[in-house]
Amino acid sequence: MPGFEVIGKEEFAEIKHLFDESKILFRHSFDHLRNNIYKVKEFEKAFAERMKVPYALGVTSGTAALRVALAALDIKEGDEVITQSFTFVATVEAIIESRAIPVITEIDKTLNMDPIDLEKKITEKTKAIIVVHMLGVPARLKEIKQIADNHGIPLIEDTAWGCGGCYENIPLGTYGDIGTYSFDFAKTMTTGEGGMVVFKDKTLFDKAAAWHDHGHENNPEFPRWEDSRSSSGFNYRMNEMQGAVGLAQLKKLDYVVEQQRINARLIIDAISGLPIELRDIPNGSYETADALVFLVDSNQTARQCRDAFINAGLGTKILPEAITWHFAGTWDHMPELVKRNGEDLINAFPVSLQLLNRSVSLPIAINIVKDFPIKIKEALISVLQS
Ligand SMILES: *Cc1c(COP(=O)(O)O)cnc(C)c1O
Repeated sequence: MPGFEVIGKEEFAEIKHLFDESKILFRHSFDHLRNNIYKVKEFEKAFAERMKVPYALGVTSGTAALRVALAALDIKEGDEVITQSFTFVATVEAIIESRAIPVITEIDKTLNMDPIDLEKKITEKTKAIIVVHMLGVPARLKEIKQIADNHGIPLIEDTAWGCGGCYENIPLGTYGDIGTYSFDFAKTMTTGEGGMVVFKDKTLFDKAAAWHDHGHENNPEFPRWEDSRSSSGFNYRMNEMQGAVGLAQLKKLDYVVEQQRINARLIIDAISGLPIELRDIPNGSYETADALVFLVDSNQTARQCRDAFINAGLGTKILPEAITWHFAGTWDHMPELVKRNGEDLINAFPVSLQLLNRSVSLPIAINIVKDFPIKIKEALISVLQS
């Protein structure tokens, strides 16, 4: 959640450096005017190093990152792309925008993609899988990667909530073939709006880099206006101001994740012993603790918990209410989903609906007030032990 909580003089110093020394706000060209300052390139390099991958590409948003990832994989009209029922609407939008067919799996108690249901939904038209580390908890990557590999299907990790987390000591976003990140204002690190795509494979990276820039190959043999190209594309380029802020935010990422984990732990310790069930965390996970999600016995109890939190002045964006933007069963404004899953979309993913309906989610901040865990506990006691 809180990259924005730590925006301060370091971000401002990067912006000031850009304006004092360069004033070129475009990532390419103007070489004689910019004093050798290339903030986006520098940010991409630092991000790739942090994630231990050879290639990173800055883009305008996490949604754009997904769209660019699908373009790099040559996803075409009629291809099927599988993702999970519990995600932000953007994951499915990127699939639809690629003219592919979104196919939705159920979630399990990790609240991420259920590998068993994934296996069932693969067809010969399946051309990509997008797994999501929803609210910062790693998906069952080992099982999912195994299934993807067995079928020869590329795996994209939507790491919008997982930036800074790990699975088996591998940074989230780098376990599969392509990882996408969001730097929007609600994410662990933020550039206001922005995103990143990471790759291990140079061919995929080159394709993505060209596609996100109108097909520009940035051929060093030509000036940009005479540049070579071999495909069409679009414009999802990150600008230098985003790159500057990103450089400063990246240095704070580990601190943000550590603090979120400490604060989540304080809350877990306070509420353990109450009749709640924590969301499953796969073995080998280092979660970002963007939010703390637990399950209660029914939708009615979940709603009572939510009301108790609100009355105590705690938290926003609490499941089950927030599912409307985050559960595919509610997206009957998307004909592509209705067509495949039937008019009764809300009941098309019954296991997911059942789990989400009795889930309660608390956003975790860096700067929580000292009595926050106790207040959470008291609010919960008022519901669960009355
Ligand atoms: C935030 C988010 C996105 C989209 O990122 P934007 O930068 O807001 O476009 C995509 N997927 C998930 C799971 C997200 O939470």
